[in-house]
Amino acid sequence: MKRYIGKGVYGAIAIGKVYIFKRNDVGVKCIHIEDIEKEKARIEAAKAASISQLQEIYEKALKEVGEAEAQIFEIHTMLLEDEDYNESITTIIEEQKVNAEYAVSLTESNFAQMFAAMDDAYMQARAADIKDISSRIIRNLQGENVQVHCSDEKMIICADDLAPSETVSLDKDKVLAFITAHGSSNSHTAILARNMNIPAIIGVGEAFLNEIQEQQEVIVDGFTGEIIVNPDEPTRTTFIKKQQEDEQKKQLLQELKGKENTTLDGTKINIYANIGSVEDVESVLLNDAGGIGLFRSEFLYLENEDYPTEAQQFEAYKRVIEGMAGKKVIIRTLDIGADKQVDYFELKKEENPALGYRAIRICLTRPEIFKTQLRALYRASVYGNLGIMFPMITSVVELERILEICNQVKVELESEGISYAKNIEIGIMIETPAAAIISDRLAPMVDFFSVGTNDLTQYTLACDRQNPDIESFCDPHHEAILRLIEMSAKNAHQHGAWIGICGELAADTSLTETFLRMGIDELSVSPAFVLTVRHAVRKLDLRKKK
Ligand code: PEP
Ligand code: MG
Repeated sequence: MKRYIGKGVYGAIAIGKVYIFKRNDVGVKCIHIEDIEKEKARIEAAKAASISQLQEIYEKALKEVGEAEAQIFEIHTMLLEDEDYNESITTIIEEQKVNAEYAVSLTESNFAQMFAAMDDAYMQARAADIKDISSRIIRNLQGENVQVHCSDEKMIICADDLAPSETVSLDKDKVLAFITAHGSSNSHTAILARNMNIPAIIGVGEAFLNEIQEQQEVIVDGFTGEIIVNPDEPTRTTFIKKQQEDEQKKQLLQELKGKENTTLDGTKINIYANIGSVEDVESVLLNDAGGIGLFRSEFLYLENEDYPTEAQQFEAYKRVIEGMAGKKVIIRTLDIGADKQVDYFELKKEENPALGYRAIRICLTRPEIFKTQLRALYRASVYGNLGIMFPMITSVVELERILEICNQVKVELESEGISYAKNIEIGIMIETPAAAIISDRLAPMVDFFSVGTNDLTQYTLACDRQNPDIESFCDPHHEAILRLIEMSAKNAHQHGAWIGICGELAADTSLTETFLRMGIDELSVSPAFVLTVRHAVRKLDLRKKK
């Protein structure tokens, strides 16, 4: 029996035999050619084959993992058709008089290096996509099969790494789990594994791959990232029990769909979901959330190369609001700055970006950006049940200024004959200690508060949330945080406002009872945690003394 440890990316247990996935990586040779046109025609044919394969993979992904994750294969198709990428391949063939495979391989390494060197994590991840599409073209040039094949028995796939297209090509009925030597938990491969509900461990290291043998028995614990090769009988029995318990728990959670978020004594709470893109609506509905408690609208800005227009924003907000069919959708205005940098904003480098020019501070000093977003929001409001909330509030004056700008936008829309809903709820995030402390002054001015515990913890405990070295000092259960939440809840209710929590703490079920006792009206969590929190709520009885 031998143990290895990696990063678990989907929490589930699998026990089974190993299948080692090896690509037929016949190294690419550099061959001098005379017939340039022939090489260019070979490239065109390989590209056409790759595009049709990607279309098939996209359809499969759409069925198995949903639109949001399937999109990566549309991106792959776009990359395949990218002008710069193709120009590079053709130029190498023409100028160096080399074979198509070599031209693709050289282009791949140039582009992958360029992406990997970028500061932005999203762009860095594109390096893997370039490798994926390039190896697809090369395999098509070589007449290789690009799919991952396993035997008929259900197996645990072990590989050095899996490209997103390889992951989604896996036949789910034949895969018990997968383990990769490399990879990061934010890679598309990891995200796909999570959405395909396949127990998976990544980044287990080279040694594992060198030592593991075909057909060996392996236990994969996707919760802890533990891998046990050739388990002894007591270990096997322990994990079979853990697996059964987990499956029962997941089954029970599914049964909670459609049920109320009500405690045994009849106290009700709303459980909403946090999203970061239009496509996430699907998982909100799938997990039966009562609404969207936080839509981080900055994704529209992060994805774009220039300020998103009113029309672009309107379309995105409309799709989310319509998708939720009358359920509450709370959209937070732009929260750029600090860890979320966008080049075209041309923000200055700051000594303390988390304490700097971010979120509402940008909106209030650059009202043209703010007004464009507000116009799009107000216009989209007629399609459902919208709430708008503002991040990083610290003072009454800021809120007065925000409400004034909202009124200006409404007057403008009215004068243009454009309609907007009259029942839009207006709220603010309580994510600075200042906002919590003056919540008695802020509450009469709004319909709701939403506590951002991620930033509230950072600012209250003076702990940079980006710095892993001080994580142990950054305790969101700190009495100071809980007192600020309780104080905000009391003040909200006294002035007729409701209060929710949308930071990560909302999903911490060890605090569900505390939040309910404080009178919190709504918890907004990642879609995957909605049913877990519902389960915690339904077990509670607030009549019992704590
Ligand atoms: C928070 O600060 O808790 C929050 C929800 O906002 P974000 O994580 O986007 O800063
Ligand atoms: Mg925040």
